[in-house]
Amino acid sequence: MKKETDSALEKVFKQIDASWEEEVDFLQKICQFPSTLGNEGPVQHFIADYLEKEVGLDVTKVIPDPEKLSSHPGYSEADWSYEDRPVVIGEYRPEGEKKGKSVIFQGHIDVVSPEPVSFWKHDPWGAEIVGNKMYGRGTADMKSGVAAMIFALKAVRDAGVKLSSDVIVKTVTEEECTGNGALAAIEAGFKADAALIPEPVLGQKGLTAQVGVIWVKVKVKGLGAHTERADKAVNSIMEGYKMINALLDYEKELNSRERHKDFADHPHPYNVNIGKIHSGDWPSSVPSECIVEARVGFPPGVDPQDVKDELKAYLLAAAEKDEWLKENPPEISFYGFHAEGFSIDPNQELFDILGEAHTAAVNEPLETGSFTATTDARFYNLYYDIPSTCYGPTGDGLHAPNEWVDLDSVKTVTKTYAAFLLKWCGYSN
Ligand SMILES: [Zn+2]
Repeated sequence: MKKETDSALEKVFKQIDASWEEEVDFLQKICQFPSTLGNEGPVQHFIADYLEKEVGLDVTKVIPDPEKLSSHPGYSEADWSYEDRPVVIGEYRPEGEKKGKSVIFQGHIDVVSPEPVSFWKHDPWGAEIVGNKMYGRGTADMKSGVAAMIFALKAVRDAGVKLSSDVIVKTVTEEECTGNGALAAIEAGFKADAALIPEPVLGQKGLTAQVGVIWVKVKVKGLGAHTERADKAVNSIMEGYKMINALLDYEKELNSRERHKDFADHPHPYNVNIGKIHSGDWPSSVPSECIVEARVGFPPGVDPQDVKDELKAYLLAAAEKDEWLKENPPEISFYGFHAEGFSIDPNQELFDILGEAHTAAVNEPLETGSFTATTDARFYNLYYDIPSTCYGPTGDGLHAPNEWVDLDSVKTVTKTYAAFLLKWCGYSN
């Protein structure tokens, strides 16, 4: 049996080497789609077509329906349209009797904005290759993972190895803001015995814990005026600045509390990021309104709603201490991420088999780790009892200028995912 696995694996690994150029070409193509929030449709249609024609999968497109999803505890508030921004699902169903376990491979195709583009040395949508690196927005986070998972399954099929269980490939939207794409695909009924997500966050390590995340919007009023009478006006930028300081005080507070075991050794696991600020439109006008938006990380095991309630009370208490803000309290609202953290046991079959697959690809044991941001793995682990982890390529510049991915690591991940398919799903030649 061992020998047989080895020879099937060998065939599949050879296939991955043989189709490497094709994989890189596919990766370049999907990286050239500027699939920021609201613009995911074209790349999703391209991938759906590819899965159907080149990988031989049955393809379904699902449009997330916020009305239907809104009663789910993992739903995140979104006030934008989902029209023509489908989640794509490709299904491999074995012929004959099913024997092994089924698996979901999932990646997100939404990317964050590349602005300011002038900071880039390479076109963010060019997918240029220099040496062993591919540059561009989404190359690391996480279109290379998407290419790796698709080409892992494709290589198994092209090598003539017949898997004995179902494989579901999902490319989802909105991982970067809500996770509603991932949620919609599960709610549409696409479930399996485990889910692997080739996020680059820990490279070729298995993810066992991640923090929770919410987004907050703080709207502060000022009293606008011409600058000649600025002494009688209240500058909303300066009032907003007070709220920024309160947010940062809350961050200190979160990190000073007793640590969750998975983040005990981390120097600063719960980050408050001031991500957006908008106020003013003229140097000679005192601005009347300031809107600050932030992302707040918090420990696993804490309900996002509790964090929202606590943060709101915290910010209002800070406003109470200020003469102006006391009379003109900030408007605090929440949208986007309503994401609970999770922590799972690394001593389970998912990590055993992933470890075997990793060793088959790189001849080293698998390490695991925790992550101070969120991923779509939370949905499977928290709400569906489907063990899920991330294991992906290596890169840098995620959510920053000059993002790149290491192409060797993409090949390694392709091999690990292919080996995982053989070991987890079972197969016949
Ligand atoms: Zn990502």
